[in-house]
Amino acid sequence: MDRLTDISYVKGILSKHGFTFSKALGQNFLINPGVCPKMAQMCGCSEDVGVIEIGPGAGVLTNELAKNSHKVVAIELDTRLLPVLEETLGDHRNVKIINGDAMKLDLRQLIKDEFGDGRVVVCANLPYYITSPIIMRILEQRLPIEALTVMVQKEAADRICAAPGTRESGAISAAVHYYSDPEMLFKVSKGSFLPAPKVDSAVIRLNISGRTSVDVCDEKLFFRVVRAAFSQRRKTLPNSLASGLSMPKQEISEILTRAGIRLNSRAEEMTMNDLAAITKELSNNIS
Ligand code: SAM
Repeated sequence: MDRLTDISYVKGILSKHGFTFSKALGQNFLINPGVCPKMAQMCGCSEDVGVIEIGPGAGVLTNELAKNSHKVVAIELDTRLLPVLEETLGDHRNVKIINGDAMKLDLRQLIKDEFGDGRVVVCANLPYYITSPIIMRILEQRLPIEALTVMVQKEAADRICAAPGTRESGAISAAVHYYSDPEMLFKVSKGSFLPAPKVDSAVIRLNISGRTSVDVCDEKLFFRVVRAAFSQRRKTLPNSLASGLSMPKQEISEILTRAGIRLNSRAEEMTMNDLAAITKELSNNIS
């Protein structure tokens, strides 16, 4: 099984099964032998902590996770990879492959069935076409997991980890910071993958405590505010919120003033507390 760090061995198995990479499924497999052990060590899995992997591919990361955890459940959408995984991981008794779509499976039920009340983390080299939807699906469902460690494109990693209130922040930063405490772990060069993507990647870990970073009076409204504020991020808040929330600019300006926000501010200047304060004033205004 340790042959999985040997690239020619992995390439050989893929070609033996006639496997060709699908761009549509975001198939860029890790071939840098240093990356998977590091991810497996830093994702928080252990003999006491089980792990869910999304998209095992040929099983290189799965193999490392299986060495560190008592149980790995890996969800793979591409049926063509099932015989490959059988060959690469068949000897691991603590690995279970589930053929399914991570965007559709009932992950809460899966955790209950596979891990009961045990401790669980998620670790994945995510297919890039669904990076944000997968992360948000996992966070919004408030699954009973302790951390979500994912490899994503470097630019996405920067955006996700940017603290709200700083220039690099966006709607995804606010959403992720609401549910978790994100951390940049390490960068991974594009040459670490087969086939090599156009851009570099990074591994980030979202630490999940189960508590949100701010108290908001109306979560749905909070996320409407976040989306509206960042939908036209170059505009000042009275303009972006008026257009995004379909409300008169004058009314929005009054709400912002009551929330203690300068009227020439832009979304990127808003901290989590600012966004929560706007939500509160907006909610008072509606009711
Ligand atoms: N973990 C492997 C590695 O690091 O070499 C493969 C990572 S590759 C970037 C993404 C993997 O996710 C592929 O195996 C792809 O088939 C799988 N995948 C794509 N969409 C998926 C989905 N909706 N649900 C589960 N797996 C998916």
